[in-house]
Amino acid sequence: LYVDQPLGPGQSVPLTADQAHYLFAVMRLGKGAAVALFNGRDGEWRAEVIEAGKRGGILLCTAQMRPLQLPPDLWLLFAPIKKARTDFIVEKATEMGAARIQPVQTQHTNSERIRQDRLQAHAVEAAEQCGSTFVPEVAELVPLDRLLAAWPAERRILWCNESLLGARAALLSEGTRGPWAILVGPEGGFSEREKTRLAQMPQVTPVSLGPRILRADTAAVAALTLWQAVLGD
Ligand code: SAM
Repeated sequence: LYVDQPLGPGQSVPLTADQAHYLFAVMRLGKGAAVALFNGRDGEWRAEVIEAGKRGGILLCTAQMRPLQLPPDLWLLFAPIKKARTDFIVEKATEMGAARIQPVQTQHTNSERIRQDRLQAHAVEAAEQCGSTFVPEVAELVPLDRLLAAWPAERRILWCNESLLGARAALLSEGTRGPWAILVGPEGGFSEREKTRLAQMPQVTPVSLGPRILRADTAAVAALTLWQAVLGD
């Protein structure tokens, strides 16, 4: 169970009404039952039910079952698309071990705003589903221009560039260590101005994901797979 509370030895964890409903009404747990907890920061903890009520309850952390396992320092930058497909990208990026998910507004991005809390909840759910002790942060939507203007010198960008159709991903090799970000464009692709800007940045490595144009959500998963296969640990 995910809780947004600190976890540690002897730590008591108050439950929200929804969590209490899930544990005591849906799962039918009672006082003394054991529950596995994680908060995305302190690993996975075994906890015991101390108080079980209709609108709340208290758990007590007894022992750590697994330490926090941090993923590699990989960010995913993507232009939000339709709601369900954006949810899919956040879910898959969490499963594929992205450390930070950064929605970006590009010139051809359709949606001007995102429900950050909803996307963050999807990341929590995906981490829970795949047994990860880490939850990536889903950041606020920011304009790509603004992000690139303050881009750190040491973080490389893997730019998924559909105009390179068919070119091999030779530029991504095991030698290129350091923090990375994957950048995937919107359904309409990047504008000429954005392409020129990206091509000028020394941190940017353009990459093709094969000779076919992929949908943006497919491209995100393909790029995460490519990166993890070559540089992941
Ligand atoms: N409208 C664009 C066009 O027709 O050229 C296609 C955009 S594509 C649907 C959305 C994004 O997915 C692209 O901006 C790119 O980042 C990524 N993408 C799709 N296919 C790709 C490929 N074969 N290689 C690299 N990136 C790709």
